[in-house]
Amino acid sequence: MHFFDAHCDILSVINSPSQLVSNNRHWDIGRALSNGPFLQVFSLFAPDSDPRSRKKKMEDQLEMARLAESLFPERLKMVRTDGDIDNWINDRDTRQVRYIIEAEGAEILGDSLDELDRLYDKGLRILTLSWNFDNSVCDSAAGVNTHNGLSAFGRKVIERAEKLGIIIDLSHSSDKTFSDVEEIAKKPFIASHSNSRTVCGHRRNLADDQVISVAKRGGVIGINLYPRFLADTGNAGITEIIKHVEYISSLVGTGHIGFGFDFDGIDYTPDGIRGVEDTVKVAEALLRLNYSEEAVKGIAGLNFAGFMRRILSGCEYSENNI
Ligand SMILES: [Zn+2]
Repeated sequence: MHFFDAHCDILSVINSPSQLVSNNRHWDIGRALSNGPFLQVFSLFAPDSDPRSRKKKMEDQLEMARLAESLFPERLKMVRTDGDIDNWINDRDTRQVRYIIEAEGAEILGDSLDELDRLYDKGLRILTLSWNFDNSVCDSAAGVNTHNGLSAFGRKVIERAEKLGIIIDLSHSSDKTFSDVEEIAKKPFIASHSNSRTVCGHRRNLADDQVISVAKRGGVIGINLYPRFLADTGNAGITEIIKHVEYISSLVGTGHIGFGFDFDGIDYTPDGIRGVEDTVKVAEALLRLNYSEEAVKGIAGLNFAGFMRRILSGCEYSENNI
């Protein structure tokens, strides 16, 4: 089975490229490939309160990923095009992790639209508009409603990103930011690492109409493993992960669900999940519940892969994908 994970913060917690190959954290190349071909979205992430220092650290992480690829080309390869996704699906390679670069917060732009073009050239393909702070582009779910949604600059960022082929990711966005993006987006968007707010009432999770909105446009929602986003008690195991899959698929079917497990961005994991090597356990649990093999392959990897391939090939917006 092919596995695609839409969110991992490993680059933010290591300090040398070789640690990507093997470490004691949640995610490394060796363990990622232990169950099949793996495509990982690497997040550029820093929790610093100063936006300039966040930008600097995110840039450093991008350079570390590129350096790791040059040092270990047989273990790591960046995905930039739809053809790269096709190759990953067809190769069945279990020596080399393919990766996509995502920035977790528009702070990486340093308030400059031109930075989007430069970062696209360096490999950026997904822009998560915010982390836990409001920024110059929009308000965060954990913010203080600085702009009441998207700023004027944020609107320009969405337009430019869509033209370039950078995917907009609304995980962490405030509800008003979400609805502002719904109004102006011409292409599908994703929620790379967010669960259902009906199942677990955390503000980081998606309301039902947001789940439907992502799916209707053809986007994908990545299930997050943080126990506080899985269950109101903060105690969770594989059963609670499955509850979110069950509920979201009851709204929009299984074709818009993927994994965005948030490894190395969460301070503890659900019972039964040590790290990326246990990704397969979620797929196995779904198969035991009589989800079809096709549906499980979609959730485990092909839904996100198909979505990325469509966007990277320059598809236009179309409604009614559910
Ligand atoms: Zn996050």
